Amino acid sequence: MSIQTIGVIGAGQMGNGIAHVFAQAGYAVLMQDITEGYARKGLATIDKNLQRGVDKGKLTADAKAAVLDRVKVTTRLDDLADCDLVIEAATEKWEVKKQLFDTLDLVCKPGTILASNTSSISITKLAAVTKRPGSFIGMHFMNPVPVMQLVEIIRGLATDDTTFDAVMELAKQLGKTPIACNDFPGFVSNRVLLPMINEAIYALYEGVATVESIDGIMKLGMNHPMGPLTLADFIGLDTCLYILNVLHEGLGDPKYRPCPLLIKYVDAGWLGRKSGRGFYDYNKA
Ligand code: NAD
Repeated sequence: MSIQTIGVIGAGQMGNGIAHVFAQAGYAVLMQDITEGYARKGLATIDKNLQRGVDKGKLTADAKAAVLDRVKVTTRLDDLADCDLVIEAATEKWEVKKQLFDTLDLVCKPGTILASNTSSISITKLAAVTKRPGSFIGMHFMNPVPVMQLVEIIRGLATDDTTFDAVMELAKQLGKTPIACNDFPGFVSNRVLLPMINEAIYALYEGVATVESIDGIMKLGMNHPMGPLTLADFIGLDTCLYILNVLHEGLGDPKYRPCPLLIKYVDAGWLGRKSGRGFYDYNKA
């Protein structure tokens, strides 16, 4: 199976990162978002991140221009009809993704593989929205995509071997390391990570320690590169809450109950880095 043209849905922090790594590996990328402004903002982030490579002497200005030239943007899903693979990285909401895959299944050519970068929604359930569940798979990139090595590859119940093999190979072409798992709520990464983040938020909520102390203890004591509250801000608190709700509902165990403090922050619009405020205040200079 030859994969040349990649569609990416959503130009947010994950979508633009996915577009970036595919374009850097030589693929033609079409990145779609709901408004021209969001799509252009995603492109500007790719530009900024590539420029960092140029400034560090890891990339020439010509190579950067060539990568950027391979990324086109659109607001129309119809434009993705001829893509060989479409990776959805839109907001972590079932209704949003369901509607997207309904439409993508209709507009994309028969051979197109459909993939989701969802953090937690069932790949099997998303695949069942389409008439091509065999060609549907989870490609879970880590944040920040250009930096992180892992791609968690999730087989839905109906994912066929051709799709699985093609996507494993493709992730290797990107210079990433794909690791496969089966489809259960939160897969492996978030089933293990999110309860730890939630517990850190409970520790804050119950006054066990300050934000800085919780992060400091976990960083220095467990040798984690960043503390769990810093990481939560980085992932996005809305995304964290959504994943915990999926774990809670999907596995039916109260141990996944989201901390009330997390719910409060999301209600307040404190979503972490992307909104300027989460457990830390990013508006301070
Ligand atoms: P984000 O909020 O930064 O970006 C989401 C983008 O999707 C926005 O630009 C939004 O305009 C766009 N969008 C929303 N509805 C759309 C639609 N109908 N059509 C096209 N675009 C639409 O979110 P993100 O952090 O990039 O997360 C995207 C996906 O990646 C989610 O499923 C999330 O769970 C998953 N993910 C996130 C992380 C993380 O660390 N943030 C890591 C791995 C996976």
